[in-house]
Amino acid sequence: MKKPEILVVDDRAENLLAMQRVLNDLDAEIHTASSGNEALAMVLDHDFALILLDVQMPDMDGFETAEMVRLYDKTAHIPIIFVTAISKERKHIFKGYASGAVDYIFKPVDREILLSKVKVFLTLYRQRQELQQLVQNLQHSQELIAKQNATLTLLALHDELTGLYNRRHLNTILAQEFYRSKRYGTDLAILMLDLDHFKNVNDTYGHAFGDFVLKEFAHRMKKISRPTDLIFRFGGEEFLILLPQTDIEGGVKAGEQIRKICATEMYEEGPVSISVTTSIGAAAFHNDKPEEPDQLIEMADKALYQAKDAGRNRVLAYTHLMEDQGQPKGV
Ligand SMILES: [Mg+2]
Repeated sequence: MKKPEILVVDDRAENLLAMQRVLNDLDAEIHTASSGNEALAMVLDHDFALILLDVQMPDMDGFETAEMVRLYDKTAHIPIIFVTAISKERKHIFKGYASGAVDYIFKPVDREILLSKVKVFLTLYRQRQELQQLVQNLQHSQELIAKQNATLTLLALHDELTGLYNRRHLNTILAQEFYRSKRYGTDLAILMLDLDHFKNVNDTYGHAFGDFVLKEFAHRMKKISRPTDLIFRFGGEEFLILLPQTDIEGGVKAGEQIRKICATEMYEEGPVSISVTTSIGAAAFHNDKPEEPDQLIEMADKALYQAKDAGRNRVLAYTHLMEDQGQPKGV
């Protein structure tokens, strides 16, 4: 903490010198002014812990100077000790207090009295500074905690590698969207996506390149999806998209767009340039009539595995799958 500053105001140089000599024993920085005007200019530039103010001065006397100091919000709180040679008559003392003075010292100044009075104010000043520092630290800590909480929330909901929502968040969101559809009759499509032969990518080009493919795939899905679509990393190379207010046809169409981009755009990094296709299973609330949120995932998952079995790089809807197998819809 910086040293407290004290301002000594007196129109006579020898008085200033004498006061300075006494105050130099304190752990404080002493400033001097030889008139009320000079003092006013200085209080605006410094954060004084205390002003020792001569009462008898030409032009602006000590009382007038004190009144001016009290006028500004920035300086109104500064304690003032009037230093006066005039008699200890009550009227003078009261005049001092009326202008906001907090203490009085009589000339000739007694060294011990001056030091003990000044020390009291320096202690108060230091305590106030410490308190301000504590308040500042507290505010800083609170900001830090808020930032950390925001980061934690982000980490809790997102997959670290791809930046997509994670599976934990899917549980919350799927239930929300599912019951919204159930209550308001809106549709909800779901896509389960799996990158084809992804194990080969990792085995052949290494996990760093595999991670690059996953990130890039996530990026491509985000780029072509609508702002209302919710994209999750479901597992290693498995992804899931929820499309609110979208029927099975809309879902399959969105899946087909992703499949096409995946099949045509290469993944390029360094010397490696490969294409990775994706298989997609689709299901939708109205079409497939799941009873529970998890059932919707199971339906899309079944469609995905059928798409894999049928040769990969394709989109299959759960309903069509069931019809193909001669089973009733939505079972
Ligand atoms: Mg004087």
